[in-house]
Amino acid sequence: MGEFELIRQYFLPLAQLPGSGAVIVGPGDDCAIQRVPPGQDLVFSIDTLVEGVHFPLNYRPDFLAWRALAVAASDLAAMGADPDCFTLALTLPEASESWLRQFAHGLGRAASQFGLSLAGGDTTRGPLTLSVQVHGLVEQGGALLRSGARAGDLIVASGTLGDAGAALDYLSAVDEHQLGNDEQFLLERYHHPIPRLKLGAALRSRATAVIDISDGLLADLGHILDASGVGASIETANIPLSAALRRVKQQQALNYALHSGDDYELCATIPGSVWKETPQWLKRELTVIGVIESASGLRIDGTATEPGPEPAGFDHFRSSV
Ligand SMILES: [Mg+2]
Repeated sequence: MGEFELIRQYFLPLAQLPGSGAVIVGPGDDCAIQRVPPGQDLVFSIDTLVEGVHFPLNYRPDFLAWRALAVAASDLAAMGADPDCFTLALTLPEASESWLRQFAHGLGRAASQFGLSLAGGDTTRGPLTLSVQVHGLVEQGGALLRSGARAGDLIVASGTLGDAGAALDYLSAVDEHQLGNDEQFLLERYHHPIPRLKLGAALRSRATAVIDISDGLLADLGHILDASGVGASIETANIPLSAALRRVKQQQALNYALHSGDDYELCATIPGSVWKETPQWLKRELTVIGVIESASGLRIDGTATEPGPEPAGFDHFRSSV
């Protein structure tokens, strides 16, 4: 069986996964067709991952597929969009059947967990590179932008920060099972980021601005401040850190949380009055880390900060925004 026959065999089943039903023609014709329901906006984004730049050489194919789709879907979460479908452009050196089978397995697991069906794709021969375009839907005018933050809004972050960035130190481990539990926890955060799709949807009627943390909290919060024309203060004592990160990186844990981005958590701004009315289950997903201010710039524990270059070592396999 040829390579491209294998791709059809392994990838076509991913077109049968339930999306929103908006894809009315999937793979097999010249184009796919997505029917945008009346009153909805189509929200879409593309991410490209290059071997050796955005992920390690000889990275496990099932982990690669998960990461590629998760990274793309995270941008839908940041817009508050409901996931619908994706297209995949895959450039492969000579790929073995076992590589393709594992890749498709990881892609299928991710696609069904995130609610994305495969609408089409393309395969070419060359250095291993993936481009994933995701499509989502949101009520017309209801997408969450970076530009809506206002002075007085609380700044919140989901989950814990810095875990996946800290995992970069262990990606070259020959046998991950030889590592301690904490290091394995950090690696799992790198291998299997979970796009915060439900959280993004829950923020739709509440947040004034949202971004997914792909480049690090300070860099990505900076994008909100720039787009919104505001400044902010954050308190480092409130930055959510996992117990594993604290134990493994000790005094350096906070630096990872501020500067590394591979966790794909969300950073959002929410008016104080809305936060008071926010249900407990949603509050448990979020930590208040600071407040938006009218004076431009970012103050960390009261000290003005220049968003300078990141410390070396955080960007080996960093993904794009
Ligand atoms: Mg993003």
